[in-house]
Amino acid sequence: MLKVSATAIAGATVFGEDVFAKSQSGDEGRPRKVLVIGGHPDDPETCCGGTMLVLKNAGFDVTAVYLTRGESGIKGKSHDEAAAIRVEEAQNACKVLGIPHIFLNQIDGHTELNDEEYQKMREFLEQEKPDIVFTHWPLDLHKDHRACTCLVLEAWKRGGYKFELYFYEAESGTQSQLFIPTDYVDITEVVDKKMEACNCHASQGMDKVFGVWHSTMELFRGIEFRCKRAEAFVHLRRTGNDFIPSL
Ligand SMILES: [Zn+2]
Repeated sequence: MLKVSATAIAGATVFGEDVFAKSQSGDEGRPRKVLVIGGHPDDPETCCGGTMLVLKNAGFDVTAVYLTRGESGIKGKSHDEAAAIRVEEAQNACKVLGIPHIFLNQIDGHTELNDEEYQKMREFLEQEKPDIVFTHWPLDLHKDHRACTCLVLEAWKRGGYKFELYFYEAESGTQSQLFIPTDYVDITEVVDKKMEACNCHASQGMDKVFGVWHSTMELFRGIEFRCKRAEAFVHLRRTGNDFIPSL
């Protein structure tokens, strides 16, 4: 069970067993590596930005990964025009968070699930060797979000379950459906910085969207976790009977 706050990560209080409570060093003494993989520029920041900051501040090596460049995300703009704007917004958001970012090469609104894309995600994750991956909750009404999850989930399985896998929620109720958290992170201390990063995504009307969706979700999850503001996750655990590489 992952139930941590910024102070907990610094060693004050940790509730139950969780991967964050263990040493923040991974194999060979390197910082534990965290990838937050989202379908579009703004998904990692809005869904997981507080947790990214909490982890980064605690010494984890955190990177935002975008499956697409948001090519279809601005009405009246061509794919190239929209991508240029949204890449810059993501770069600015990551600068605020103080983390690096990586763009993969799918197209917003046209993400594909095929053997080649599954292989590419598997190779990417094998190369990056993360200790922890966050990605979209699978039951999501946005097809790019679902595609992102499918690619990561398959790579996790075929790669031999080498990282801890957490799902985050995106605009629960309209995008994520039936999301029932197993784990929470108290983001109260970093919420202003998260909002500053999210507001870099001006093309997405973030000044209106953040208050309506993300801020409300933080408050609601905070009530559940008994803190001011929280982000919530589902931790997918290996079941023990699913180590059949040929499936
Ligand atoms: Zn998205």
